[in-house]
Amino acid sequence: MTEIFFDIQVDCEATQHAIANPGLGKKAIMGLGEIMVETGTKGSFMVIPSDMRAHAAIYRELEQQGHEIGLHVHPADQGYEEFLGVYGFDMQVKILKEAVAVFSDCMGRVPLSFTPGYGSANDSTFPALEALGLKQGLVSVPTRDLPECACVWGHSPLGCHYPHRYNRCLTGNVDFVDVPATIDPESRMWGGKHPLDLRVELVDAKNHYYTIEKALRRQLAEDSPVKYIKTATHNTYDYADKNNFRRETLYAIIKAAEKICDLNECKLIPANTAEIAAAYRKKVPLPIGGQKLELDTRGRL
Ligand SMILES: [Zn+2]
Repeated sequence: MTEIFFDIQVDCEATQHAIANPGLGKKAIMGLGEIMVETGTKGSFMVIPSDMRAHAAIYRELEQQGHEIGLHVHPADQGYEEFLGVYGFDMQVKILKEAVAVFSDCMGRVPLSFTPGYGSANDSTFPALEALGLKQGLVSVPTRDLPECACVWGHSPLGCHYPHRYNRCLTGNVDFVDVPATIDPESRMWGGKHPLDLRVELVDAKNHYYTIEKALRRQLAEDSPVKYIKTATHNTYDYADKNNFRRETLYAIIKAAEKICDLNECKLIPANTAEIAAAYRKKVPLPIGGQKLELDTRGRL
């Protein structure tokens, strides 16, 4: 039976300046922890430094339960500009280093997983992550086209890959497994700039069902080395409230993923980002060189 990994990513940023509600953040991560226990699922909590300082004990507990705790960065909350993708290599390393120090102080270990705020990145980002010893994460949001957030991904790979050293949209030999967001590249939102993705709060359960089904069938057709469905949310909704709409939607997504796997004779395997990346590394060794591009000469006389 084909195995499909299923991960719930939670970007934790309830203390960031636009939200500033640590109490809500706490309720959200505790509620999500309960949902994961109840449904037997696993999560990847990507945490900005100020959320880490506020709720370190809870993250250490979540880690004990098998969830991945990784690093999330919103540079504005460290005194920089809002978007990571406007900075060069040295500044990105500086920003990341500060965040890594807080994480390490609170968790007693360095972070290995990473996600940038807004999916904001540029060609220096993957080498910067590698330089800091980060090993995997959701960095790219394929087809997202938001120059206003320094987040432009074009037709970057839809599945796990090692990124290119000089071009974020290509595959290459950076020692970091990018685990892109699960998206439907053909269903567009926000005037066409953004693909439908599996962010719980983005749309309703019916839309998510279609995205899951399409993503799974595409991966089966392409026989991707590691197949996964990654849903995502933020710790800015009250997941502890049993009547919360986002909570209901998350339950529906989990159910849909299970049902779609059954219908396609696949087995759903709860996994965090680190486990998905480890499965990829096991199947695909880190290549020596970058992606070899060839000129498309179709149509020439
Ligand atoms: Zn964020």
